[in-house]
Amino acid sequence: MTIIGIDDTDSRERGMCTTYVADTIARRLADQSATIERLLLVRCNPAVEHKTRGNAALAIHAQTPADEAFDIAWRVIDELAEAADDRTNPGLIVSPGDPDYVPEEVVSFSREAITDHHTRDGARSILDRAGYESHGWKNGRGLIGALAAIGAWRALDDWTYEHITYREPGRWGTERTVDPESVFDAADTCYPVVWDTVDRGTGEAVCVPRTPGPVLYGIRGDSPEGCRLVSKRIESEPIDYERTFVTNQGTDGHLREGTVSSVRTGYAYRLDGTVTSGPETRRGGHVFFELSDDRATIDCVAFEPTKRFRDHVRDLRVGDVLTVCGEVSDGTLKLEKIAVRDRVETEPVTPTCSACNRRMKSAGRGQGYRCRRCGTSASGKTDEPLHRALERGWYEVPPGARRHIAKPLVRGGFDAQTHPER
Ligand code: ATP
Repeated sequence: MTIIGIDDTDSRERGMCTTYVADTIARRLADQSATIERLLLVRCNPAVEHKTRGNAALAIHAQTPADEAFDIAWRVIDELAEAADDRTNPGLIVSPGDPDYVPEEVVSFSREAITDHHTRDGARSILDRAGYESHGWKNGRGLIGALAAIGAWRALDDWTYEHITYREPGRWGTERTVDPESVFDAADTCYPVVWDTVDRGTGEAVCVPRTPGPVLYGIRGDSPEGCRLVSKRIESEPIDYERTFVTNQGTDGHLREGTVSSVRTGYAYRLDGTVTSGPETRRGGHVFFELSDDRATIDCVAFEPTKRFRDHVRDLRVGDVLTVCGEVSDGTLKLEKIAVRDRVETEPVTPTCSACNRRMKSAGRGQGYRCRRCGTSASGKTDEPLHRALERGWYEVPPGARRHIAKPLVRGGFDAQTHPER
């Protein structure tokens, strides 16, 4: 078997998509009678500075001689990559041998590419030691993702699927014709095995991108057959090509266990703490609160695009105990999901007189409360039950605001009750 790793072929303004480049390489290899085993769509650390959008890297696993694979992949990248964009620096690596036997050093590199930051020199020295054939266009930054894609099959064990359809090239850059009703109907047929196809709260077909480029729509889920079935039921403009990718999307692979006092910018965490201030809605509709443990405090934010997730965040109260998940940037954690572990269930209120059933009044500073009518007194406030709309368990941002790598609650495997968005 041969593994072909590629990355960094697309441009934010000019379009293209590395999945399309990988699909084209796979088609050309198949034309040369190679057997295509699978294509991996690997989402690396979403916090890296140089990403175009979702920090995707691609691997093709094929039964084909490594030198032929290198030639074909080189030509396709040369032809399709948007190298005219300053920030596009394609990388290609070819590894002969079975994806299950990639060296340990490459496997660790892949794992770290999803949760950490790598350098080009680091990638180059590993691929030299491994003896892989490679080519980096321009500054060769794409070699980082390409190497991550080579080791991903051994590095990861939670896989999902995305069935991606591609537009005819003549239509790239024009408005996509996809019938929204058919998307919603199709999405219903396979939910929850197929998820994040639509956002039922906003009425948006989230599977259809808005950026320029070859993708018509992408259907994500836990079953490749389910994803293809949903795709088949969607009415749209003609599909030029389609491909099912094996992917680490929807796995939370980017999250590290952390503590409020140890977080660093550029990493994503799962953190425990107590709400110590807020929530407060600021300009732009972003909702902030402070989360603390016994040593430190961090700002957490639910951004405006997270829409109805902000209602749950607005229901938080000082004293609630949470687990929060998200990326830390400039001292603020950008919320992807939260778990309410312990809720504040009572609040201190001015006591009511048991004889007169009237609120008591303050009896003077530090002297408690007294009933104006009958003189009954109380030493301080009493705790009354609080009605909380917010329940215990996990809450998440809606499908329209989900990061590619973030795990939807509907996939299951969480350590508490879940409140999935659909
Ligand atoms: P799209 O998702 O739209 O295909 P993209 O978001 O994948 O685009 P790229 O154009 O691939 O963005 O740019 C990401 C760049 O960051 C690549 O050059 C890749 O090699 C590099 N990279 C990936 N992971 C890491 C990492 N962990 N540390 C440093 N660089 C990384």
